[in-house]
Amino acid sequence: MSLQGKVALVTGAASGIGEQCARQLAQDGAAVVIADLNLQNAQKVADAIVAEGGKAIAVSMDVTSEAAVNAGIEETVSKLGSIDVLVSNAGIQIVNPIEDYEFSDWKKMLAIHLDGAFLTTKAAIRHMYAAGKGGSIIYMGSVHSHEASKLKSAYVTAKHGLLGLARVVAKEGGPRGVRANVVCPGFVRTPLVDKQIPEQAKALGISEAEVVKNVMLKETVDGEFTTVADVARTVAFLAGFESAALTGQSVVVSHGWFMQ
Ligand code: NAD
Repeated sequence: MSLQGKVALVTGAASGIGEQCARQLAQDGAAVVIADLNLQNAQKVADAIVAEGGKAIAVSMDVTSEAAVNAGIEETVSKLGSIDVLVSNAGIQIVNPIEDYEFSDWKKMLAIHLDGAFLTTKAAIRHMYAAGKGGSIIYMGSVHSHEASKLKSAYVTAKHGLLGLARVVAKEGGPRGVRANVVCPGFVRTPLVDKQIPEQAKALGISEAEVVKNVMLKETVDGEFTTVADVARTVAFLAGFESAALTGQSVVVSHGWFMQ
């Protein structure tokens, strides 16, 4: 589906899943905004997209800061004319059993995953409403929006929360053509997951190979990791699907780990 003439902002797009989402949306014709805490890496991604013939800019954005989010969305609209697609993707992982989970880490996790989703939605949807062209908001959920795993109290709580937010935004935005959906990947080899493998091995007292085989991929149908391309294609499909037939949904991309 063509995204020609659309403007898409992706948070956390300087790395991993967000980066590939931005590349895919640009390939499909959108002008993309690489919004990230790490401006240097965001600029590299934007430069690479431009070198491949796409349209991209980088903006510095800490999704937990209302002022930074509002400034980034304003910059988007003033430089590119609108915002039609928001991919709220920025995220981190902190694993620990709940009795050792620092309250400060819990708050940090909820701030990045949930405050970030709320603040970017609030800032972007106003422009979508004002332009009167509708829009598509996509939250990066996870299989952990539906399932629980040990050591991930804050992550599982936050990812479940995104389902509720998407459903409310779908209802509020529906009459004005704004759709909201959640994409829920299984494990994808990105820096976020690479960091977790030794941490989980230590916390669970098993080897790193066992973490991959028996924790991360155990429930998949084929023992395979999901790829950034799998997730990005799903995001681009939802971005270009211009009917409220698909809104308020979660789409699980996980090699069958979770079936709904
Ligand atoms: P990643 O570590 O490769 O990239 C995350 C990006 O988010 C980084 O560029 C980082 O700078 C940015 N970021 C972190 N905090 C930020 C903040 N406060 N403001 C703006 N940007 C910030 O991670 P990833 O694996 O690509 O994860 C992206 C999203 O996908 C996350 O929401 C994650 O929970 C979700 N997810 C990942 C997996 C997986 O297996 N990798 C599976 C399911 C869901």
